[in-house]
Amino acid sequence: MSTKTETFAIEKSDAEWRQQLDPAQYQVLRKHSTERAGTSPLNVEKRPGTFVCAGCGEKLFDASTKFESGTGWPSFWAPLPEAVGTTTDRSFFMSRTEVHCAKCGGHLGHVFPDGPQPTGQRYCMNGVAMKFEDKK
Ligand SMILES: [Zn+2]
Repeated sequence: MSTKTETFAIEKSDAEWRQQLDPAQYQVLRKHSTERAGTSPLNVEKRPGTFVCAGCGEKLFDASTKFESGTGWPSFWAPLPEAVGTTTDRSFFMSRTEVHCAKCGGHLGHVFPDGPQPTGQRYCMNGVAMKFEDKK
């Protein structure tokens, strides 16, 4: 039961996304799938830089907000300003807060209130939904 009232700067048809993204990216970003824990190379990415949306290139997280959550998914305690939006996800009989790219609406992961300070938030992201750009 996702609401479709939000509009995004980048809107593409399903066919266009399917063509642009690889199958794993497509399943996560457009179909709200979740990658298997521990599969993303971004789990161990520790260089300074920026994590960007794999769908549209929007800058999402600065590497300085990344932390080791032990979950097997890249985790952050804060997104960049206005980089992401959230919706309430009631699938799987749980209420979770879904996180998506503010520019293209691509599904990124979920946010939980058990993260470290200073925010106490844990942005649990799918690595396949992001790309890493190291600081030049
Ligand atoms: Zn995006």
